[in-house]
Amino acid sequence: MRLKTLREQVIVITGASSGIGLATARKAACAGAKVVLAARTECALASIVRALTSDGAEATSFVVDVADREQVEALARATIERYGRIDTWVNNAGVCIYGRLDEVDERDSRRLFEVNFWGVVHGSLVALPWLRRAHGALINMGSDVADVPMPLQGMYAASKNAVRAFTDTLRIEVEQCSDEPVAITLVEPAGVDTPLPQHARNYMRREPKVRGPVLAAEDVAAVILDAAEHRHRCVRVGRQALSSTLLSSALRTLAPEAADRMAAKQIPELQYDESPRRPQGILHAPNDTEFANVEGSGPFDGPPSFLRLAMP
Ligand code: NDP
Repeated sequence: MRLKTLREQVIVITGASSGIGLATARKAACAGAKVVLAARTECALASIVRALTSDGAEATSFVVDVADREQVEALARATIERYGRIDTWVNNAGVCIYGRLDEVDERDSRRLFEVNFWGVVHGSLVALPWLRRAHGALINMGSDVADVPMPLQGMYAASKNAVRAFTDTLRIEVEQCSDEPVAITLVEPAGVDTPLPQHARNYMRREPKVRGPVLAAEDVAAVILDAAEHRHRCVRVGRQALSSTLLSSALRTLAPEAADRMAAKQIPELQYDESPRRPQGILHAPNDTEFANVEGSGPFDGPPSFLRLAMP
């Protein structure tokens, strides 16, 4: 099955108001795709679309909470009304919680699953009929935390494991059981320099951060857009280069108790030496902070350049 080139595609990206989704939208628009940016923060989306269209790109935005299936259906309908088809759908929207599992409020945990897991389910099932018609690509965002459990991010890791199980099963049903013309890819990045920690619901006594070394959002965007043009099964971005992650994975198989002890020692690496700035994050309400419309860690110090992972 041949997927269209980016220039020929209509691409829907959820979670496009910051971080990886924003980087992906910018790259896709730059490559000539028609891009639909979806998230909850209307003003951030509007200013991103203004900047893209003033550079000559074809882009539009749609306000959506991916936890609500009706809103996701409305996003698909609006895209079809405007462009007549959907060639690639990227389920990227996601949120994180930092906190011990026995301290996190159940309402927060359920909301995280509504966004990270059910948001992916809604997007996948709503997009599928359109992707069949267009011979298109479905791309779901997982995370390497599905492999290497991390203390204080347990509910997030559980949601990404659920995304992996859902996506892998959907791929078998669609591609193998019924030979339908849809390419389904799971993208599982290691740590990426985005505002994800600043957007997180934070129960810790310190400000959270992504554990280094980290990837740049635009490197993950390049991988996502490669999956929009070429069929892949699962892409683990940065993982091959992360000897520490490989080591933890190997250790988990060979000496699981030692791996647990090592994971527990990672806690200081998840925190800045300062008090939490916005412990509520964007879990329940949209991204109207200074971290909307930014790809990287914004006003926080980004990772030092020697800690950035070089991507080919
Ligand atoms: P950001 O916080 O920068 O981006 C999250 C995006 O999701 C924002 O655009 C936010 O916009 C949107 N969003 C959040 N909740 C909803 C909702 N209910 N409905 C619609 N949109 C929503 O973080 P990243 O760019 O890092 O995260 C993107 C994806 O990448 C996530 O799925 C994350 O789990 C995954 N990932 C990130 C890694 C990292 O280290 N950064 C590593 C591995 C995976 P708004 O508030 O406007 O709705």
